[in-house]
Amino acid sequence: MGKPAVSTPSAAGKKERKKSGKGARARSAVKYKLFTPGPVQVPGYILDELGSKLVYHREEAFSKIFASVQKGLQKVLVTRNDVFVLTASGTGAMEAAVVNLVSPEDKVLVAISGKFGERWRELCIRAGAYVDSLTRPYGESVPPVEVERHLLAADTVKCVFTTLAETSTGALNDIKAIGEICRRLNRILVVDAVAGLGADELRTDAWHVDVVVGGSQKALAVPPGLSFITLSERAWELVQRSKGVRYYFDLQAYRRFAAKGQTPWTPAISLFYGLDAALRRIAKTGVVRYWNSHKQMAQFVRGKMKRLGLELFAAKPSNALTAVKMPVGVDGAKIVEACKGEGFLFANGQANLRGKIVRIGHMGPVSKSSMTRALACFRKQFLKAAGRAH
Ligand SMILES: *Cc1c(COP(=O)(O)O)cnc(C)c1O
Repeated sequence: MGKPAVSTPSAAGKKERKKSGKGARARSAVKYKLFTPGPVQVPGYILDELGSKLVYHREEAFSKIFASVQKGLQKVLVTRNDVFVLTASGTGAMEAAVVNLVSPEDKVLVAISGKFGERWRELCIRAGAYVDSLTRPYGESVPPVEVERHLLAADTVKCVFTTLAETSTGALNDIKAIGEICRRLNRILVVDAVAGLGADELRTDAWHVDVVVGGSQKALAVPPGLSFITLSERAWELVQRSKGVRYYFDLQAYRRFAAKGQTPWTPAISLFYGLDAALRRIAKTGVVRYWNSHKQMAQFVRGKMKRLGLELFAAKPSNALTAVKMPVGVDGAKIVEACKGEGFLFANGQANLRGKIVRIGHMGPVSKSSMTRALACFRKQFLKAAGRAH
């Protein structure tokens, strides 16, 4: 017979304290600020909203926040159409776009300028589509005339998938020009704006973009977990006809529930509050000014890089992030590692770009003083890695 497995209140309390002490240590072990291209540092006024409230999602209180978020997202996307919030990271909204628009054996065009463009291709292949890929080398943007050439050669292509800000390279695509071509040739344009949304100019309706997807953890500076999708009437017509298999991401269900201020499944209610705080702040600033603040931050970062003699990886860069090329013999991964130790987290290049580029995220309301400190650390570690004194 062993001792009963009951501890005295004081012993239990001690154990609890010990446990939470450990937890606190584990949390405080993360001693860096995020300068990564998503997730980004979340400001206090957004964090404060997350833990405070929980309402029932079939109740009026939720419909209120739903309506407020809807209005805020329409402003950021510059659209009059509904915007749906999904409980999923950005890739979830990409998948939602594909399974709602693409039927097996459909022909689609994917205009690719990096890793996220490749994700569209993979999703479309899984959906059973015949995929025509227009691929540019990493660092370049998609030339709109090439999109036009591909579409003129294949009049059965229904949808064109592309990316606003290609986070793997820092390149920006000319969505306005591509939108004009797609409208003229009567094709549905689907844009991954997960990274660019809020950072780069994007006028969904005026630029004839039929479908846009976005995510919470990039330029809106909300924690990860939510993504967004909006569709034009033309796109809805295709959704109604398409035979892609969907359940959780069935956008027609989202549309039915949106009419009463709800989502079909239990939403990430706490994140809605964070998102609402972010969107209200952006609405107050105005979306054009929010874009401009990203442009100014991008210029500030690029000025500092130029002074170090570093070149940008992207020929036409987005305002969401700056990818800089490392000179031969300088390992960017070492700089990233050293800066992390000093409290500033940048991102490496992905796959075979690892070490060859460093990506500096400047999405969200980053302060100039905090960026100045981060870049001073980058400078120091770069000069060290390059074997130059400073
Ligand atoms: C971050 C990002 C995504 C989505 O990635 P998740 O990890 O699923 O949020 C998609 N496209 C681009 C361009 C991105 O930057």
